Amino acid sequence: MANFYAPIDDTKYLIDEFLDTSELSDVSMFSEMTPDLTDAIFEEAGKITESLLFPLNRSGDEQGCTLKNGNVTTPDGFKEAYKKMTRSGWGNLTCSTEYGGQGLPHYIANSVDEMIISSNISFSIYMGLTIGAYNAVEKFGTEELKKKFLPNMVSGKWSGTMCLTEPHCGTDLGLIRSKAIPQDDGSYNISGSKIFISAGEHDLTENILHLVLARTPNSPKGIKGISLFLVPKIKVNDGGGLGELNNVVCSAIEYKMGIKASSTCAMEFEGSNGFLVGELNKGMKAMFIMMNSARIHVGIQGLALAHVSYCGAVDYAKDRIQGRALTGAKQPEKVADALIVHPDIRRMLMTMKAYTEGARALSTWLSFKLDISHHSTDPTKRQQADKLVSLLTPVFKSFLTDMGETVTSLGMQIYGGHGYIRENGMEQYLRDARICQIYEGANGVQALDLVGRKLPAHMGESLRYFFHPLSKFLTQHSDDDSLDPYIQPLSKAFSRLQNATLFIAKKGLSNPDEVGAAASDYLKLFGFVAIGYMWAQMAEQIINNKGNMPDTFYDAKLKTGRFYMQRLLPQTESLLSSLMSGSDNIMDLAESQF
Ligand SMILES: Cc1cc2nc3c(=O)[nH]c(=O)nc-3n(C[C@H](O)[C@H](O)[C@H](O)COP(=O)(O)OP(=O)(O)OC[C@H]3O[C@@H](n4cnc5c(N)ncnc54)[C@H](O)[C@@H]3O)c2cc1C
Repeated sequence: MANFYAPIDDTKYLIDEFLDTSELSDVSMFSEMTPDLTDAIFEEAGKITESLLFPLNRSGDEQGCTLKNGNVTTPDGFKEAYKKMTRSGWGNLTCSTEYGGQGLPHYIANSVDEMIISSNISFSIYMGLTIGAYNAVEKFGTEELKKKFLPNMVSGKWSGTMCLTEPHCGTDLGLIRSKAIPQDDGSYNISGSKIFISAGEHDLTENILHLVLARTPNSPKGIKGISLFLVPKIKVNDGGGLGELNNVVCSAIEYKMGIKASSTCAMEFEGSNGFLVGELNKGMKAMFIMMNSARIHVGIQGLALAHVSYCGAVDYAKDRIQGRALTGAKQPEKVADALIVHPDIRRMLMTMKAYTEGARALSTWLSFKLDISHHSTDPTKRQQADKLVSLLTPVFKSFLTDMGETVTSLGMQIYGGHGYIRENGMEQYLRDARICQIYEGANGVQALDLVGRKLPAHMGESLRYFFHPLSKFLTQHSDDDSLDPYIQPLSKAFSRLQNATLFIAKKGLSNPDEVGAAASDYLKLFGFVAIGYMWAQMAEQIINNKGNMPDTFYDAKLKTGRFYMQRLLPQTESLLSSLMSGSDNIMDLAESQF
């Protein structure tokens, strides 16, 4: 049966030992994050996600959401759980104390987020979108908007959405048709149809604040003519109380493969009153704030589902007896040995473990870089961290969500037929994981963003903030024999990434199709190296400077890291040769030949 154990030990290790937070020790928010405090946060997060949210995961999937007369009902237990989670502050960890939030660093909040998502991804979406909307209003909204809307978002009384997609436009947001007509009082009347809107309508909060992309009359064509508006489901009067309905209607909900307890809504805006967020025609700039944090959040979804699938797979592999170990019976008192004795089952478990723990290290590390980009007292460090996060965001989103699919599929495989049937809950993780590769910018489009925008940005400057420290780390430890199993494979993979980068930079000048054809392989190669870098740093730290975890913990880390280096990282070789084969083998076939 599927089980969830919050990864408390691994999280504590990453925060207390792996991460060097000294860079922000002069900022009070960070100096207050003592191991006692953060460990207590993780223990509590573990308890509430295991006991409150995980038990609603399966029932939520079975029951799904229902729509009646424009109202969406979430599955049984969601309302009560939402109240408990928001009242205890789990929904506003990073929000500013000015609006009632807790002002905690991202590296703490994202670790908690992972636990919430693992235990119940559908539930987590309602809280996660509110944070995305909060971020956009907090950064770009007027003081008046912030005062009026943020405190109730932070308390969880009102939730948020992100309304980009329309029936004819998904990836290509330049095609948006929704209209915003200016009113005499400075507000706008918004009309248009949006589809696939997560948490567009539900029964968890008393109001829903939609962040809607739309065009004003005579705005420039394409992406340059799009603005962002805050449109409440129910109007809010000047005193902050709720007024009349705002002509925002949920006309349908989608029936879908996974995340069934998260409502996916078709929304109609019919002259709905809204407020400009940020500058006119600069809606994409404001929306990117939401999308960047949302993309990191979606990457964490991949990691979180990988983890919960691993929890179920390990229990099953130890419990289910089938066949004998190749080297002789391990449980002679029983009619067969447990699955975990078989090398092929171990190959799958090790793959799951190595990807998941490596991805968790990357998540913690990147979240801290995000904190530096927001809070460092040194503006140069802030800027550099911002560029690094921006470079790595598409890699993180795509690699971790692809990994989520791979790992949840392995988790199901370990259960054999018992994983494919619904009863044991393992197939749900795979179904839930699949959407993560599609929404928040499909993974193929993330790859194009990486090679087309992020690599060339500032003449390749962002890349230096990843390549230079990695190169320095490899040089520093090149003579350390005990680190050989980690440094040698990582050096080779890094050379491949450098070659691939040169190839793309050169070929892109003569033929953009070469870049498009190489993009997905390049992003994967990048992701493998990024996680390899995390494993090598963990190994270096454990070998040279062990902390307070039990020896078995460190031993498992070193062995899992070695598996990653020897069994998973070599995939970089085939990725390099695939991308260097050029675009002809992809583009040569005429359309009629398909
Ligand atoms: C469950 C669910 C929840 C969602 N939640 C939200 C939400 O809350 N808010 C919201 O606004 N939207 C939401 N979406 C929409 C989602 O973000 C889009 O589905 C996604 O961005 C892809 O758009 P599309 O489906 O129109 O596909 P298309 O844009 O038509 O793309 C189809 C395929 O073509 C590829 N492609 C497109 N353009 C290019 C290109 N230039 N080069 C190479 N390949 C390309 C894509 O990678 C994709 O594989 C949700 C969708 C689902 C299914």
